Amino acid sequence: MLSFFTDLPNHFSLPRRINRLGELAYNLWWTWHPRAQRLFRHIDDSLWEETYHNPVRFLKQVPRARLNAVAADKHFLSRYDAVMHAYDRYLNAADTWFRREYPDVQGTIAYFSTEFGLHETLPIYAGGLGVLSGDHLKESSDLGLPLVAVGFFYTHGYFTQRISDDGWQEALPVNLRYDDLPIIPLYDADGKPLTVSVELPGREVQVRLWTIQVGRVPLVLLDSDVEGNSADDRALTARLYSSELDLRISQEIILGIGGVRALRKLGCAPRVWHMNEGHSAFMTLERIRELVAQGVPFEEAAEQVARSSVFTTHTPVPAGNDEFPTWLVERYFARLWPELGLTREQFLELARREHPWGETFSMPILALRLAEYRNGVSELHGRVARKMWHFLWPDRKEDDVPITHITNGVHVDTWLARRLGLLFDRYLGADWREHMDDPEIWEQVDRIPDGELWAVRRHLKRKLVAYLRERARKMWLELRVHPVQVVAAGVLLDPYALTIGFARRFATYKRANLVLSDFGRLLSLLNRPNMPVQIIFAGKAHPADEPGKRLIQEVYRKVKLAENGGRLVFVEDYDMNLARYLVQGVDVWLNTPRRPNEASGTSGMKAAINGVLNFSVLDGWWREGYNGRNGWAIGDETDYDDPAAQDAADAESLYAVLENEIIPLYYKRRSTDGLPAEWLERVRESIRTITPQFSTRRMVKEYVKTMYLPAMRHPNRNS
Ligand SMILES: *Cc1c(COP(=O)(O)O)cnc(C)c1O
Repeated sequence: MLSFFTDLPNHFSLPRRINRLGELAYNLWWTWHPRAQRLFRHIDDSLWEETYHNPVRFLKQVPRARLNAVAADKHFLSRYDAVMHAYDRYLNAADTWFRREYPDVQGTIAYFSTEFGLHETLPIYAGGLGVLSGDHLKESSDLGLPLVAVGFFYTHGYFTQRISDDGWQEALPVNLRYDDLPIIPLYDADGKPLTVSVELPGREVQVRLWTIQVGRVPLVLLDSDVEGNSADDRALTARLYSSELDLRISQEIILGIGGVRALRKLGCAPRVWHMNEGHSAFMTLERIRELVAQGVPFEEAAEQVARSSVFTTHTPVPAGNDEFPTWLVERYFARLWPELGLTREQFLELARREHPWGETFSMPILALRLAEYRNGVSELHGRVARKMWHFLWPDRKEDDVPITHITNGVHVDTWLARRLGLLFDRYLGADWREHMDDPEIWEQVDRIPDGELWAVRRHLKRKLVAYLRERARKMWLELRVHPVQVVAAGVLLDPYALTIGFARRFATYKRANLVLSDFGRLLSLLNRPNMPVQIIFAGKAHPADEPGKRLIQEVYRKVKLAENGGRLVFVEDYDMNLARYLVQGVDVWLNTPRRPNEASGTSGMKAAINGVLNFSVLDGWWREGYNGRNGWAIGDETDYDDPAAQDAADAESLYAVLENEIIPLYYKRRSTDGLPAEWLERVRESIRTITPQFSTRRMVKEYVKTMYLPAMRHPNRNS
């Protein structure tokens, strides 16, 4: 196991017999092993909920008497021993997939990302990109990849969302304390906090290093909140995605340049450097600088760096790409270009982007130029990226632009409901997890009887509804919100009604309001006798995204209307915990991006593996996943020039399919035993076709085979 710490923080006083719970708390392995989670829950269910599933806070607070009691409970101890045994076997396994397949391959893979979504108690992620990075780490751990990740410890995290009576998003600040989290401080040999130094205009900023252990994979976190830095500098890494330019470029310098220095300081010499999105592209400059300082000419250094670099782009629209004005880059980098042996012009040329109004320094262009391995995150997105960046390879045909695609996936053990996992154990064979990317294993889903599948689906929906009602009760009890807000939060939800989920970041292209666009028609569907339909919305808008916040308001105002009968619901504060409840508990997962703006999307995959049927625009991953029998499509693959025409056509398709296909299939075609047999056939088809293909198991193996290994095997390596 790769790890950088020698001692775990010692905050707990635990009975000797169960003192390894402390170790368990400091390795996120427990987050994808339900038996380990249930160990904590068993000790004190309500405290486990109160601490929001945070074992560090939990173990600090749990009464000693309770610990003594479980330490004397034979039943608990046998479960504890089994979990610790599984944990040890996992960490010490010598026969991981990577070792078996590539016994001779040496070297480390470095994976850089601005956000990592690992668990709800670590709000250092904003949305899909972060969850994808987190899932990538968990899967890399499962497969035994020699991978180390680099990101930020945002001390103020991503905000907590509240919705005002009038539907306006309020961003409550978050304050993360490392000693309340499974974050481990790193120290040097003298016991001083480990730091690296990064030059910013007119000063050196110290950056402290922390680590989170994700199974076998360490994640190194950078944090500028260090004594000795100015107050402004201490706040540089406090929050995600500032729209303020100086802050953003400083963060990206800390990630790219500070991140390379951090790995060096930790004695790591990666053979492959993966930039997950362009925010970390400054890493290439630091690595070139190192080589130039050793006497390698710039051209050769740049080639070496490119041969060991992987760049994954996630942005299908030009406007979404990260870029900086030239004057700003000049301010931050003028000192660097002589060190690289470049003139100002040559340096700016590395990432020059022409706009009608002037030039910028583009992070994705820098990454595309200095990484030989480049990919989009779905087949369609690969095509869109080749078109968008064609101008960088003017001699080639569009199809030959060297950007491939690796479609995203989800970490199955993180997102799969435990009960469904048990069903798979029974009908797919106890070792299905070992082979989860093998489509053949999933043929056996057919063996799961309707009754058992339906029972689990109903259980998961009841669990979701009970959870949302409890959240609404707390709002009423503790926050004394207006009663309509309690209704809007879901107290009137019906655990037996056909339930549609729509949860994701509120960006306008995702069109959360599409399903509301003909409100009269929607209302006529929601409250029909004996076939009610309910829709649960959730999602945050970026705090600086005014149109996104207005979209939330538009949805919320409709949710509050009495005539929907409480069947439209908006749940505050979408995060990984709420996401788990929703993707496991609803019947249908709705996604309505304006094509082709959704690079991939992953929440629909989480839903699909849980037997929730996707109902989505043929964009991103669903264009590949949909086969006509495993969910439903909204619209077709028409390319539109006029967004209004596109919205109208998609809305019409949405209502027609909902009314004529989805609702009747759920309610009407019941067999004599009362089960919706055809619905369940679709559920099985969805699980069978989507789980193997859209798991991170398939995805990470693809990164290994098509990107990491070729880069690692290249003889002329930069390390
Ligand atoms: C999976 C996930 C996302 C990504 O959702 P998309 O619909 O793919 O954009 C965003 N936020 C959270 C909390 C998630 O778990």
